[in-house]
Parts: sequence; structure tokens; C-alpha cells
Amino acid sequence: MSHPTTLPRVEVDAAKLPLMLGELRLPAIARMWAEMAERSDREGWPATRFLSILTEIEIAERARRRIERHMADARLPPDKTLDGFDFAHVPMLSRAQVAALASGDAWLGKGKNLLLFGPPGSGKTHVSAAIGRSLVENGYRVLFTRTTELVQRLQAARQELALEAAISKLDRYDLLMLDDLSYVRKDQAETSVLFELISKRYERRSLLITANQPFGEWNKVFPDPAMTIASIDRLVHHSTIIEMNVESYRQRAAATRKRRQDRKNPTDTNTENKLDTD
Ligand code: ADP
Ligand code: MG
Repeated sequence: MSHPTTLPRVEVDAAKLPLMLGELRLPAIARMWAEMAERSDREGWPATRFLSILTEIEIAERARRRIERHMADARLPPDKTLDGFDFAHVPMLSRAQVAALASGDAWLGKGKNLLLFGPPGSGKTHVSAAIGRSLVENGYRVLFTRTTELVQRLQAARQELALEAAISKLDRYDLLMLDDLSYVRKDQAETSVLFELISKRYERRSLLITANQPFGEWNKVFPDPAMTIASIDRLVHHSTIIEMNVESYRQRAAATRKRRQDRKNPTDTNTENKLDTD
């Protein structure tokens, strides 16, 4: 004997499901429920198991999408990863220390800072971007920006009497990465927006700063010596400072290539074939 009252009802509900799931914004469940329902029927899952598996799928997908959004929002330079970073070139930077920074827990949230100094090409931007990438993957929100660009934005906000709001908006980032602080231009240095930003984030929200010049040269970045000292004071109070005093990675790579080339093609052309396997 069939059950004419229950069977059509199930069919009607199934037809409405995609719409209802869409309305509830549950795209992962909308995509997966049919396959899971089929498995559940076939394997005789308890209803609780079926429901919790679908819920977990939706939650996982939501987390993945959130991280994807945060990654795009972070504006990190592309392709700079920890895997692609040659630690041998920077002996003062240990892989373990960078891994700890990249996990974030010990410094973000407590508003601690990270300051990276070193000459051009020493890898400051690369290692910063790589740390930023890991932090986003670990659920943190970061924003990577050239310092001059951010200062420009804040100056524009100030002209519209909206500096306070603009700085507060940056609070949503656990870490603000200011690349190349020492490139702040003279006309930008005449304003105090950078000082206001540093003061606002002090002991609350973290900053990562890279600069070619250590503090001695920072007078060019702030309007007056008192503000320079006050800024440095706040930045270093809770901070890790790493000086990457190594030669330019680009130049070293070029030199290595050249050495290889010279060995392959020595001036004595008779040895050319012999050395070709190098
Ligand atoms: P900086 O910001 O200190 O001027 P970058 O991070 O921009 O230097 O590095 C210059 C170039 O050399 C980039 O292409 C970067 O990926 C590469 N590079 C620098 N240091 C390393 C390293 N230790 N391992 C791999 N690539 C590096
Ligand atoms: Mg750089």
C-alpha cells in the first residue's frame, strides 16, 4: 500500500528547497544537499548527522570565502610567500621567528609592532607580504600599503575634516603594514597625519613598518623633532625590531648569474663544451 499523502509533499518541498536556501543565503547547502540527502538515504544516516554535515559544509565555505575577501582586501603584493623566501640570505632572520610572527597570536591583538629596517633589496617588502599572507590565512585582517599612499589618503581625509573617521576605519585591520616609511615626501612630512595614526593605534592595534633608514633619519618624515621622538617612542615601546643589513637580493642574484655565466663561457673558447654541463 502506498502513502499518497506523504510522497507528493516531499517532492513539493524538494522543489522549493533551492529557493528557500537561496533566501537564507546558504549556497553551500543549496549546492550539496541533494547529493548528501541521497547518501543519507542510502546509508541510513540519522537526521542529526545529515543536518550537522550540511551545516559544517556551509560554515567551512563561509570561512573560506571570508578569508578570500580579506586576502583581496589586504592588497598584498602578489607572489611573495614564505616558501619563496630564501632565509639563507638574511641570517639575522630565523625561520622560526618569522613563523611565530606569521601565526600572529603573540603580537597582534596586543597591539605590538614589527619594525623592519634594511637597505633597498634586502627583502623587507617580500618578508612583510609573506607574513601578511599567512596572517590573513590565520584569520587576521591586514592592510598592506605604501606609506606615501596612506599618508596621501589621510591628508585628503583631513581636508574634508574626516581624519578621525578615516583613522578609526583602519581599526578593522589587526595589522596595518606601512611599507617604505622613509619615502614619505617633504610636503607630506609637514602634516601630522602619520603621528595621529601611530598615536591612535598605540597599544591597541599593531603596525608593521619597513624603512631603509633606521630612526636617525626619521626627522624627514614628521613635522618636527618632538613629534618624531613621540612617534618613535610609541612605535618601539612594544615592538620587535629586525635590522636586515644584507646586500640587495637582486644584486646578489645578478652577480651569481654572472659568475655562472662566466664559468660557462670563459674567455678561452676551447673549454666551452667541457663546461657546458655546469
Ligand atoms: P626591499 O623591500 O627590502 O627593498 P624586496 O622585498 O622588494 O626588498 O626584495 C627585492 C626583490 O628580491 C624582490 O623581488 C624579492 O622577492 C626578492 N628577494 C629579496 N630578498 C629575498 C629572499 N631572502 N629570498 C627570496 N627573494 C628575495
Ligand atoms: Mg620594499
